[in-house]
Amino acid sequence: MDFNDTAEETKFRAEARAWLEANAERLKPGDAAAVMSERGGSEVIVTAKQWQAKKADAGWACMTWPTEYGGRGASAIQAVIWHQEESRFRTPPNIFAIGQGMLGPTIMAHGTDEQKKRYLRPMLRGEEIWCQLFSEPSAGSDLGGLRTTAVRDGDDWVINGQKIWTTGAQYSQWGMILTRTDPTRPKHAGITYFIIDMKSPGIEIRPIKQINGGAVFNEVFFTDVRISDKNRVGAVGEGWRGAITTLMNERLSIGGGAGGPEFADLMRLARETDWNGRPALDDPAVRQRLARFYVRGKGLQYTGYRTLTALSRGAIPGPEGSIGKLVGAVLKQDMASFAMDVLGPAGAVTEPGIAPEEAAWQETYMGIPGLRIAGGTDEILRNIIAERILMLPPDVRLDKDVPFKDIPTGPRNA
Ligand SMILES: Cc1cc2nc3c(=O)[nH]c(=O)nc-3n(C[C@H](O)[C@H](O)[C@H](O)COP(=O)(O)OP(=O)(O)OC[C@H]3O[C@@H](n4cnc5c(N)ncnc54)[C@H](O)[C@@H]3O)c2cc1C
Repeated sequence: MDFNDTAEETKFRAEARAWLEANAERLKPGDAAAVMSERGGSEVIVTAKQWQAKKADAGWACMTWPTEYGGRGASAIQAVIWHQEESRFRTPPNIFAIGQGMLGPTIMAHGTDEQKKRYLRPMLRGEEIWCQLFSEPSAGSDLGGLRTTAVRDGDDWVINGQKIWTTGAQYSQWGMILTRTDPTRPKHAGITYFIIDMKSPGIEIRPIKQINGGAVFNEVFFTDVRISDKNRVGAVGEGWRGAITTLMNERLSIGGGAGGPEFADLMRLARETDWNGRPALDDPAVRQRLARFYVRGKGLQYTGYRTLTALSRGAIPGPEGSIGKLVGAVLKQDMASFAMDVLGPAGAVTEPGIAPEEAAWQETYMGIPGLRIAGGTDEILRNIIAERILMLPPDVRLDKDVPFKDIPTGPRNA
């Protein structure tokens, strides 16, 4: 197994780096962690849109999207190289990831020609932001349990119900929503997928306050919201197929890259933090813990390389991606927790202006638990690994073939 770039990849990397050098500011040591702490807000959205348009004009947006939709038609390896290079520069947070990484590919696979023509280019250029309206209060891991209804009324559909944990609903133009259109069929069968204008009458967005003070997620309520049948993605009752496409792409886009600080950031923190007149790194217990993080990180890196090698040989992403996310998110969480130990009392200061490194470690410490839930919780990923990699007997699914309306769930089921 050769982990070095091929001649072609070397050329591609140099081209990517040259463009980034000319158009963005390179991160300095210590900056990577600080970038994590950039909070949302309208200014960030403007900067993110400008950066996305700039990349699109130069052919660096949505690397793996086919060229007919404005992408580069690049290979998975080229996309990884681009992301490796881009992550070395100070760039705005990627508020387009849900649309471009998950919803765009679903429109490509299941949308009409008209939908592809209307939505994909503005999505690629970052002109329109998208959100994913899947989760509901009783439908998260068991997404097939969703209850938001869509009822046909002439050329329209009328939507009622509630979604939750909708990232970016407050600044999105469009959402992709899963609805129940036939409760007489088993739970995965009576679902239909739509594109919804987030400014439609009858939509109420309520922010959910997070532990770090931000409010990235929302509850979204739908009261008699009308959508044209033209906005249906795929056939009536076949929405689960689209949902699977979105979820497969979600796993792929989250992948092993839990984001956040790297091992080098942790080393630097230990070297630069003063413990009674000496660097924390001088403490043998600190060094031992660092060594363990290094070994875990390398294991993850090489597992990631194996996946990349398979991809470069034409394989499609398999359930192994679940290992990367499961192990990677836990590792980053442990690293952030260790950073808090190193920081000592300063770890309790969360104001970016006065906390060490712009409170990036504190931000990571508070935000990383979300990564262990988003895109599949640890338990669900373990189920996937057990069933599809270890070939153990599947999880018990008693309600699989029962009409949705007959599944006992509480006082009322409709
Ligand atoms: C950062 C973040 C961003 C998100 N963004 C979005 C978004 O933009 N759009 C959207 O639609 N949703 C979003 N979500 C929601 C996310 O998809 C759900 O939180 C997730 O699917 C888990 O569902 P749940 O919260 O309902 O938990 P539940 O499914 O109720 O799970 C509760 C616990 O039970 C465990 N459990 C459940 N079923 C099983 C089982 N069969 N075997 C073993 N254990 C089980 C779970 O692992 C978990 O520990 C986001 C979540 C986070 C954290």
